[in-house]
Amino acid sequence: MPDSCEYTAGPWATALAVSNYKAEEVSTIMVNDQAATRQAIITALKKKGYSLVERSSWQAKPPTGTLNPGWDYTDIVIHHAGHSYSCAINTQGAIKQIRQAQEYDMGKMDDIGYHYAVSCPGDIFEARDVRFEGSHVKGDNTGKLGIVLLENLAEAGEAWQQEYRKKSIWDKLRGSLDIARDAVAYDRESPTQAQISALAALIETVQEYFHITKLGGHREYQLLAPGNEGRACPGKFGMQVVKQMRSRFSLAVPSK
Ligand SMILES: [Zn+2]
Repeated sequence: MPDSCEYTAGPWATALAVSNYKAEEVSTIMVNDQAATRQAIITALKKKGYSLVERSSWQAKPPTGTLNPGWDYTDIVIHHAGHSYSCAINTQGAIKQIRQAQEYDMGKMDDIGYHYAVSCPGDIFEARDVRFEGSHVKGDNTGKLGIVLLENLAEAGEAWQQEYRKKSIWDKLRGSLDIARDAVAYDRESPTQAQISALAALIETVQEYFHITKLGGHREYQLLAPGNEGRACPGKFGMQVVKQMRSRFSLAVPSK
């Protein structure tokens, strides 16, 4: 895998032009395989009756920098979009949400951090191209495929309990807006059946292409990552989804 793997918004299967260098031919084939796998995931979902909304279809912004190559995923990490995300009522609404999520993430990194997003009405979005490592668990993203559920699945007070309670007074002050929103959680929702079905189809499909052994919520993974930090994500209701998916697909809890 060359580390110069360029992000191209054009047709995926074309990949890189073959050079006359033998050493490079090998890596060119690998890039092509990955493009084919990305496409195969889209096709497999379609066969199951789910259309994956590609980046070009939701007008994703191109990454602002070079992303690290990522592959060989073994873990699925479930997130929720959190405060200020209410369930979208249709695909148009969900497109606005994924664009908002990308906008937010690009305020601190080169692209949206997750690989896929699933809306309340059951749309599945391609977020960060699966050929690149995600940025969704602080300090530990290798082999981790990130999926975000596009609503707030935390109960009031969860961010305080899981995250801010143990922090310094300065971090509490910095997070005061977040803490205030968390205290009310007026927008928290339960996942819809359409969303659960779409998420299950996505997990099942991803398992056909990667050797996935573990699945967990962001909070579980963040506790294992350097710094052992607490996170509310994906919230109490998101953790119910996590447990449901773990048993449905016989996946293990996160471990080091
Ligand atoms: Zn998260």
